[in-house]
Amino acid sequence: MFASARLKLTAWYLLIAMLISVAFSVAIYKASTDELERFARVQRFRIERRIQEGFPLPPEVRSRFTTDVALITETKRRLLLALVAINAGIFIIAGTVGYFLAGRTLEPIQDMVDEQHRFISDASHELRTPLTALKSSLEVHLRDKNFTLKQAKTLIAESIEDVNKLHLLSDNLLQLAQYQKASGQLSLEKVSLSTIMREAVQKVTPLAKQKNITIKNTAKDMLISGDMYALTNAFITLLDNAVKYSDNKKTVSLSSKKTLANAEIFISDQGIGISRKDMSRIFDRFYRADSARSKSVSGGYGLGLSIAKKIIEAHAGSISVESKLHKGTTFTVRLPLFS
Ligand code: ADP
Repeated sequence: MFASARLKLTAWYLLIAMLISVAFSVAIYKASTDELERFARVQRFRIERRIQEGFPLPPEVRSRFTTDVALITETKRRLLLALVAINAGIFIIAGTVGYFLAGRTLEPIQDMVDEQHRFISDASHELRTPLTALKSSLEVHLRDKNFTLKQAKTLIAESIEDVNKLHLLSDNLLQLAQYQKASGQLSLEKVSLSTIMREAVQKVTPLAKQKNITIKNTAKDMLISGDMYALTNAFITLLDNAVKYSDNKKTVSLSSKKTLANAEIFISDQGIGISRKDMSRIFDRFYRADSARSKSVSGGYGLGLSIAKKIIEAHAGSISVESKLHKGTTFTVRLPLFS
């Protein structure tokens, strides 16, 4: 598809370049031949006047005139040839440059289309697995002749749980698609970091309580330009992960630092940590480290961090991670200060 689009675009570039080049060539040819013909006319006029006035015309003047006319015809022919050669050269150069430029023009569009295809195939794959499991479980029980009311109730409860998970997955996919569309979609306003942190901590507190985990919030207040709702969601994800991937009775801390242009926020835990191999991939869509899978920590589809990263990047910020396996992890978020 892109190969033919590239050829079409090259043809358009070539057409534009050739139209300009041919138009210039015609103008140059016309101006030059007009000038030559004007010169020949003046010569002829002088000779005719001399003849009319009865002056004898020396043979060398007559032969010079004939030579001049032949020279003019030859010059016109050579000019035409030179212009054709120049246009042929321009055709080859414009074709090559046009093909290269068409490739460069289409590259971001191709990347975007590839990314969309990957997104759709990842999403369908993730949706297919739980749906197939749900379908087979329902079918098996439907065929069971000794299926009791109590068993039916259990099955319905389990199915609702699965449907809830699918609901969460589709919500996450929608969020990811929404934040993928860059910063234009966010409503940026002056927001206080401590309000965002307070809300995020509040949301995660019930889970932390279940695990007897203390959340220590020493983040200073700073003003940033951001979308309150989106940023709160990003920090909920980071805090939720810190709690999820920590053993009971540990501490999760939230702190901050002001640099010249940025607010730096640190979310640290004393949890399972992230191996070097996983570190570069945890922000990828649907990526879950083996340690997270094997511990079967509930919930996640490996979308939280990629959504958080998209949100932070849409605010012209950045996110990085440092971790030691079995010791703990620190995520650092940098966001531009309000100015
Ligand atoms: P999930 O829904 O699996 O938590 P995320 O995108 O939020 O998805 O995280 C991706 C993976 O990164 C997790 O599966 C986990 O392996 C790893 N991870 C994220 N945060 C932490 C953390 N604080 N400590 C250890 N591992 C983490």
